[in-house]
Amino acid sequence: MSINENLAQVRRRIAEAAERAGRSADEITLIAVTKTRAAKEINEAISLGVTDIGENKPQEIRDKFADVSPVRWHMIGHLQTNKIKYIIDRVCMIHSVDSIHLMDEIDKQAGKHNIVMDILIQVNISGEETKQGCAPEELPRLLEHAGELNNIRVRGLMTIAPKADSGVTNSLHFDNIRRLFVDISQKKYDNVTMECLSMGMSGDYETAIECGATMVRVGTAIFGERDYSKSAQ
Ligand SMILES: *Cc1c(COP(=O)(O)O)cnc(C)c1O
Repeated sequence: MSINENLAQVRRRIAEAAERAGRSADEITLIAVTKTRAAKEINEAISLGVTDIGENKPQEIRDKFADVSPVRWHMIGHLQTNKIKYIIDRVCMIHSVDSIHLMDEIDKQAGKHNIVMDILIQVNISGEETKQGCAPEELPRLLEHAGELNNIRVRGLMTIAPKADSGVTNSLHFDNIRRLFVDISQKKYDNVTMECLSMGMSGDYETAIECGATMVRVGTAIFGERDYSKSAQ
């Protein structure tokens, strides 16, 4: 299957899932996840109308940035504070913020560039031990802290559902984060709006859309299986 055919299929499935949920497909941003992919493949996807791409390693963003056509870059993977400087002026959004320390450091780096960085708080909704993300109980503390910062703004939540879980339990996780998303949007936190709910990957993006995702992060279903031996460190 070509990138062209795969993209067409993903877009059709997004539209169908949106329709099942009584939503408009326009509400859903497809983020094509381009980790391990060469600039050439990424540019092909962009020429086919992809507007948003996601990477999980700062180094890969740095390495590919000059060779990729204009597009919105999203940082979706775990971010160490000493790597923020490589991406701060290149990405439009950081999805993987799960601590006050990281929030503070992003704010500081964004301030140096005179920008306001959009961030999502990554929530570990399944309680799985290995996953990144803050516990749901920690959310209020992080959201309150955002009110003290000038160079970030919180735009929503992000989660990664456990790979091993079935579609049924993933929809439970997605429903749970959707509930948090709605609860938070009804409370008034300074500098926090709940507009973006980033959830769903190749295996579960349709379920995520039925549960309210506004951003889906899809790699394999567009580009095929990844070969990690070729990826940047
Ligand atoms: C790799 C990755 C994805 C995409 O995964 P696929 O299963 O290839 O669609 C989505 N989100 C994050 C955070 C990722 O690291």
